Amino acid sequence: MKSPLAHTLCFALATLLHTMPVYAGPTVILLIGDGMDEQQLTIARNYLHGASGRLAVDALPVRSSVQVLTVAEKDPKRSIYVADSANSATAMATGNITSRGRIATSAGTDRDLETIVSIAHRAGLRTGLVTTSSVTDATPASFATHISHRSCEDPTRMQSYEVAGDFVVDCSQDLQSHGGPGSIAEQLARSPLDLILGGGRGHFEAAIDSQESPLAIAARNGFDVFSSPAELVAGEGVNRRIGLFAERHLPVRWHGEQGRIAEKPQPSLLNYAYRYFGSVKQPQAFQCEDNPNYGDTPSLKAMTDTALDQLHNDRGFFLMVESASIDKRSHQRDPCGQIGEVAQLMEALQSALAYAEKNPETLVLVTADHGQAAQLVPDESIFAAYGVPIFTPGNIARLQTPEGSIMAINYATNQFDVEEHTGVQVPLFANDVAAGKIPPLLFQHEIFGLMRDHLGI
Ligand SMILES: [Zn+2]
Repeated sequence: MKSPLAHTLCFALATLLHTMPVYAGPTVILLIGDGMDEQQLTIARNYLHGASGRLAVDALPVRSSVQVLTVAEKDPKRSIYVADSANSATAMATGNITSRGRIATSAGTDRDLETIVSIAHRAGLRTGLVTTSSVTDATPASFATHISHRSCEDPTRMQSYEVAGDFVVDCSQDLQSHGGPGSIAEQLARSPLDLILGGGRGHFEAAIDSQESPLAIAARNGFDVFSSPAELVAGEGVNRRIGLFAERHLPVRWHGEQGRIAEKPQPSLLNYAYRYFGSVKQPQAFQCEDNPNYGDTPSLKAMTDTALDQLHNDRGFFLMVESASIDKRSHQRDPCGQIGEVAQLMEALQSALAYAEKNPETLVLVTADHGQAAQLVPDESIFAAYGVPIFTPGNIARLQTPEGSIMAINYATNQFDVEEHTGVQVPLFANDVAAGKIPPLLFQHEIFGLMRDHLGI
């Protein structure tokens, strides 16, 4: 029989164990700023905190550069120097180099490439994806689905889906009726993920004829599907969940005054006669303001906080968090849209770092998938003393910064309606858990190995 003292000690120990917080085992939080190269970071830092200020990411002790590799679909030995989000997310998610447009499949051969989500799930870890885009967009899709083209987002886009002009996507080999895994939405609905948060409700409601919609498949696979931001509060122990807060991508937080974006400088008539004659009228400067369409859209931080609550457990987990519209707004020459979305990623990072503070086996990585078009250029040309009109051949936005200066942002990758990505190497930041483990320059597909090694899977 136990002595009263032993009994008291046992009781005290049991109480202590019960109230002690459960520390997460090896965990990876990968934050991706889509298109967030050093230009986008510098532009955001200048606007948000001033040229001598600091972004949250600047406090991270590990900082490296990532060379992005892409290959040609028809000749996978040949390099393509500018990536898209599909092949670059595939590199991080699977450790493989592939061609543009491919979602976790191999260039040329269309072989499925195993993702970090599937490996982590098999090892008993929880997994989650959080994004400000449609959850079926290329970056989140590459972490948990396999398909030959990123446009095959739902059952209605699998065959003869016209993307642009005469470019028609064909994912018919992946149709469920052909024994394939189905569209991205159908694959997400059938995935082992514990949590998926973002936009894309329309893709989950899309169905052909009498076939099940991805929404119905998700419900049958044990997901609670919801669309009200008010439901973002539940903590650990809830069911597997999919939260879809917009038809497609989530609206961005900021836009330019009166919706302004970059504009063309207006050279005088004389300048058309000879490029050194005449004058040029630059666009008026403007500021950023709240986007009236943002409404009650959940912030990336709010979604990340929910994910950290829900995924937290003593085995650890893998979570990917993406701020998607740094890229999407740069395509549209909208610097305020971009800057607001860098701010969102920085807030989500602060949540991730607070989590890592309490759970010391948490590796926090922040990176971009590829470069974008926006470029910080002089507002006053260094060649102005030559007395000739000097202006960009592209479009320019002159932002009135809160610290009282003008920041000129140039977009000139092409003359089309939409700007393109650029092929620059991108940054990688990490918390002290990664100290000594990340070389000064690495290949993007090596991020996969870093994450897998840390998770011990
Ligand atoms: Zn893009």
